[in-house]
Amino acid sequence: MSGRPVPIVVQKNDSREFELDEDALRSVLLSPEVGDKPVCVVAVAGAFRQGKSFLVNQLVKYCVNKGSPNWLDTPSLPNAVFKWRGGIEGETTGINIWSKPFVFTKPSGEKVAVILMDTQGTFDCQTSMQESTFIFALTLLTSSVTVYNLMYNIKEDDLMNLQTFCTFGTLAQNSTNQNSCAFQKLLFLVRDWSFPTQHPYGHQGGKNVLDKILTVNENQEPAHQRLREDLHQSFEDLECYLMPHIGLRASRDKDFDGRPNQLDEEFVEHLKQLVPRLLAPERLVEKRSAARRGQPATGEELVRLFRTYMEAFRENKEVLPTTLVEIMVRVTSDETSKMAFELYKSTMDSKIQAHGRSLEGFLLYSYHSESKREAIAAYDKENQYARSKALSATVDKVRKSLETRIEEVFGTYVLKNNNMAMHEARERAKAEERAKA
Ligand code: GDP
Ligand code: MG
Repeated sequence: MSGRPVPIVVQKNDSREFELDEDALRSVLLSPEVGDKPVCVVAVAGAFRQGKSFLVNQLVKYCVNKGSPNWLDTPSLPNAVFKWRGGIEGETTGINIWSKPFVFTKPSGEKVAVILMDTQGTFDCQTSMQESTFIFALTLLTSSVTVYNLMYNIKEDDLMNLQTFCTFGTLAQNSTNQNSCAFQKLLFLVRDWSFPTQHPYGHQGGKNVLDKILTVNENQEPAHQRLREDLHQSFEDLECYLMPHIGLRASRDKDFDGRPNQLDEEFVEHLKQLVPRLLAPERLVEKRSAARRGQPATGEELVRLFRTYMEAFRENKEVLPTTLVEIMVRVTSDETSKMAFELYKSTMDSKIQAHGRSLEGFLLYSYHSESKREAIAAYDKENQYARSKALSATVDKVRKSLETRIEEVFGTYVLKNNNMAMHEARERAKAEERAKA
């Protein structure tokens, strides 16, 4: 038995909330095949109906045939493949993995376990954008190689979406207190590449296109420059592969089932190059441990990662952004709020220190009011989104919570001041005693 797809992150019908099927995940990641071997997780992500599941099935086929040179031509694909061709049930989002980990031996002799992952997102309306962000960010965080599956070309929208997924993924990493914020390898896989006369299909053509697209230059808007810098910083390795069209039989033939003789010849040629590029043992990228620097992650750790990130996302659910702009507003507001809070404290500290002793209550309060006013003004001045009416809800919400934090920390200033006053009174009393004596 060669395996079957196992849903590990599923969406509940009624609430649309995502749930982790931890038993299913453990059944794969804690299996004897994985043992304590390093794990490679290869995932395919991107919008619907663009041939992702079809590709993951080719990866399964390569693994089942142990990477033999004629892996594609052998008819040994298991019956229970990842469902492809979409259909109505294609509207749900979630993550599936192949039930059987595949063990490969690297040239060094080290054995690694390969986990194949198929994901689904919708990328269309706002709610599903939220869900897609969740799925994609979770994929980036838990895989060592993410294939970002795109149609025709790499468009600015695709890059912006990717930035959203990265930002959100990074937020989840921060909230679990991890130092390393980089993701591992990302492969832009462009299906039905539209400009083969300018840039030929394949890896080298892809590299040229990606270099061109990701180059920062002065003619770009600052936001677009930042986007490119962000992406370079977020990934250890960025690659691109340009795929030819699958062939017309895929859409015309009723009995099309993906056999190689139904596919366009050029497409087959490139499948034979692409799949080993991803899975040949000498190229396999191991999932890095989050806790132990420089060490590969084990199955046990990967289960923990899924659990932790699912929790982090759940905690952040109300801030799960619906659009790219919204997440930028959120991140900027949070950062500016942090700065403003520090400003409040440092202004208070310097006012109080300048005084040199405890303050009358009314004076302390007036220092507080001034410092708070300055901090809020700084928040509004530095937050580039504070002047936009359309985005005021998030900006206001973060400002409110800044005010609350300031009021709370003022409480500690009052307490400290009271203690100091009490101490001074005691010292004064002692001095008076001494004077009398
Ligand atoms: P998914 O929703 O992204 O997982 O897409 P599927 O793998 O289910 O495939 C959806 C449809 O796209 C199927 O009819 C496939 O035959 C077809 N398909 C698969 N690969 C390609 C490709 O590279 N180009 C085109 N145009 N269609 C493809
Ligand atoms: Mg699919």
